[in-house]
Amino acid sequence: MGKATGFLEYERKTGEEINPKDRIKNFKDFHGHLPKEQQELQGARCMECGVPFCQSGMMIKGMTSGCPLNNLIPEWNDLVYLNKPEQALARLLKTNSFPEFTARVCPAPCEAACTCGLNDDSVTIKENEWGIIENGYEMGLIKANPPKVRTGKRIAVVGSGPAGLAAADQLNKRGHSVTVFERNDRVGGLLMYGIPNMKLEKQIIDRKVNIMKEEGVEFIVNSDIGNSVKADKLTKEYDSVILACGASNPRDINVPGREGKGIYFAVDFLKATTKSLLDSNLADGKYISAKGKNVLVIGGGDTGNDCVGTSIRHGAKSVVQLEMMPKPPLTRAEDNSWPEWPKVLKTDYGQQEAIAVFGSDPRLYETTVTEFVLDKDGNVKKAKIVKVERKFEKNGAMSLVNVKGSEKTIDVDLVLIAAGFLGTQSYVAKAFKVETDQRTNVKTVANSYSTGIPKVFVTGDMRRGQSLVVWAIREGRDAAKEVDKALMGYSNLA
Ligand SMILES: Cc1cc2nc3c(=O)[nH]c(=O)nc-3n(C[C@H](O)[C@H](O)[C@H](O)COP(=O)(O)OP(=O)(O)OC[C@H]3O[C@@H](n4cnc5c(N)ncnc54)[C@H](O)[C@@H]3O)c2cc1C
Ligand code: SF4
Repeated sequence: MGKATGFLEYERKTGEEINPKDRIKNFKDFHGHLPKEQQELQGARCMECGVPFCQSGMMIKGMTSGCPLNNLIPEWNDLVYLNKPEQALARLLKTNSFPEFTARVCPAPCEAACTCGLNDDSVTIKENEWGIIENGYEMGLIKANPPKVRTGKRIAVVGSGPAGLAAADQLNKRGHSVTVFERNDRVGGLLMYGIPNMKLEKQIIDRKVNIMKEEGVEFIVNSDIGNSVKADKLTKEYDSVILACGASNPRDINVPGREGKGIYFAVDFLKATTKSLLDSNLADGKYISAKGKNVLVIGGGDTGNDCVGTSIRHGAKSVVQLEMMPKPPLTRAEDNSWPEWPKVLKTDYGQQEAIAVFGSDPRLYETTVTEFVLDKDGNVKKAKIVKVERKFEKNGAMSLVNVKGSEKTIDVDLVLIAAGFLGTQSYVAKAFKVETDQRTNVKTVANSYSTGIPKVFVTGDMRRGQSLVVWAIREGRDAAKEVDKALMGYSNLA
């Protein structure tokens, strides 16, 4: 625990963020952090719950409650309070392969399940995690620690997102020789080419990947397995193959005019910006620019928010974000009690920036698009939008119907589709002859990461569908343990 009376004595405090009007001038991380002494007091707010829900990682009503990695949160909060950085780091790294990523991008289901949050402000768990790992780097405690003995087993990991990286890291630590194949030119999956730089600066990924390289993990980029490299090559040359290719099939919007120029999937837009930023600080112009454009983002989720923030940094003329569901309440509804994930209104960084720049929230709730209007050259110029309402059948099934008379036409020059993801890309599944389910996620043997095809395992979003970085790390670690057991007859991996 922290200090017995800490939660009564100290208020929740987090680092300050750079204000929206200033931070949109660049793509840098805008989150500030508390000095070490204040961090210790935040650790003191942890109150030794009999049952620490923060570290439970349960699914309640299909939503995550508590940390999916079962991070030993009360233990490291105590060690933060007691100013024992080495021990805090050791406890954190026991369960989390990449706190430097989760401490920046995790939506912190731990904090939503913190007992302090039941009737007061929750403990600043995510910020404490940031403090522990960054202190670790600053103090030189994080350095390459290659395994002393090699097992002689060779493992191929396809995909270098958080799931593939976590599996590779664990298996390499165990002494297996691991090669990670990545079709992109940079390692990191959606950490690199999905999540924008202002949320996760890309040198943070390189810093960790370089340590993994020093520890012996081999990375081969620009290597598209099932396309430029045959799947058979991997199954022949390696003792096990782990597929960690993500769930990158975007859900499309099938309305008249969809073929128009200026309509893109969100990740193509976000990836191009990050690549150009890293290659040339945007000087090469090889990105889809929102400068001076009326931008329509379709999808009110986190990916849509990233599109809003990125468009504003480009210098968009206006940004509208469509969300089909109703506006959530400001506080938990009666049927959404603690420690469930709170389904409440969240105004994320991109929306805050839109409010600062344009004076209003960019989100239009219960609204969808019915048509894109194109000019004679095929460029998108307008979008027809309409209000929708929910209709429930007797069996509880929900459908959305258009509200008559609510149609509107708005000016648009750039449309970004952020309507979710459908699952894995079929060419990889076909190349390895693995089966997919109705949602195009790869099927596994019950309670296993094995695909049923000899030697071939699957993990991360490719198995569970589009999720969170913290779940991908969990999946990667669990898959690594199963592979290790299959190769060695037992596993001592956590
Ligand atoms: C725009 C966006 C923002 C997000 N923001 C957040 C956030 O803030 N917080 C959060 O927790 N989660 C966020 N997520 C979700 C999170 O990024 C994913 O759940 C997570 O990255 C999944 O990890 P993964 O390793 O399974 O797959 P991915 O990260 O998708 O990585 C898969 C990798 O496999 C590679 N690959 C695919 N096929 C092949 C092949 N045939 N050969 C070689 N390589 C291949 C891909 O190029 C990719 O690099 C976001 C998602 C998106 C799209
Ligand atoms: S990984 Fe996410 S859920 Fe787990 S302790 Fe860190 S911020 Fe909380």
